[in-house]
Amino acid sequence: MLPLQECLSPHVAMAQRDHVRLDWREPYQTLERVRSTRWTCACRATVYELCEGGGRAFIRRTLQLDDGYKIHETHRWSIAEARAVWTDILSGHAR
Ligand SMILES: [Zn+2]
Repeated sequence: MLPLQECLSPHVAMAQRDHVRLDWREPYQTLERVRSTRWTCACRATVYELCEGGGRAFIRRTLQLDDGYKIHETHRWSIAEARAVWTDILSGHAR
């Protein structure tokens, strides 16, 4: 059995009743290199990542299932806009 580990990455807050519902789509490949710059803790079934590349950014949501993963992505925003959405996800104001 693994030793109990402390969580180093943030957890999302519970969704607020009036939270913004993001448009989650099937992921699609783009030519730009994309890298995760922020992510939530993998101890939760749903992991969110802020992904940046080519001057644009989006959120990737990975649902960890018993038999694999289910991945969805938002559409692309400017990096500043995506960072604002990221903050809203963490605080429960968007989901
Ligand atoms: Zn955790």
